[in-house]
Amino acid sequence: MTPTSIVDHEHTFRRSGYTGDGAEGFTIIDWCTVCRAERRRPATEEEASGIRQEWADRDELHAVFHAFCKATDGLSGFDLMEAAEGWAATHPDRVRLVTVDDSPHHSSSYLVFVTHENAKEFMGTTVLFVPQLSGNPTEFFLYPSHHQQLAETLAWLEARAKAKPGMFEVAMAAAQARKDRP
Ligand SMILES: [Zn+2]
Repeated sequence: MTPTSIVDHEHTFRRSGYTGDGAEGFTIIDWCTVCRAERRRPATEEEASGIRQEWADRDELHAVFHAFCKATDGLSGFDLMEAAEGWAATHPDRVRLVTVDDSPHHSSSYLVFVTHENAKEFMGTTVLFVPQLSGNPTEFFLYPSHHQQLAETLAWLEARAKAKPGMFEVAMAAAQARKDRP
C-alpha cells in the first residue's frame, strides 16, 4: 500500500522535517502516519517563520561562546585571562571565572565558564581551563546532567578541607612553634 498520489489520500499526515535554506522558502516533508507515504509541499508562511525562529534560537544558544572565541582567537595565558575578565564583566549572566592553580608552574589560572543558552533553553556550558604559564587552553563541555556530580564532588572536597587545617595554617603553626622553642 504505497500511494503515489496524495490527492484524496485520507490518512493522517505528520510533519517529519523540511528542506531548504530559507532563501527560496522551505519544503515541508510530511509522512503518512498509516502507510508511510511521503508528501512534499511548500511551507506555509507560518511554518517558514517558525523554522526561521528555530534557526535564530539555535544561533542564539551559541552566540556568546562564538563571539568569545572570535574575540579571543590566538590568545593564551595571561592575555586570554585578561580578555576573559573583560567578558565576565560585560556578560555577567553568561560568563564566569573561577581561579585555580596550574600545576606545573603554581601560577594562578582561570576556569572560564561560558553558557550556551537562549531565552527558552539552557543547553550547557563550555569550560575553558586557561593556564597562565603552561601553554594553550583546553576546554570541555558540561551538560546539565553533569552539574550534580560536579556539585557533589566540590561539596565532598569542601567537607574534607574544612575538617582539617590547611597547609598554610600547618606551616604557620610550625613556624610559630620553632620561634617559641627556647
Ligand atoms: Zn497513507
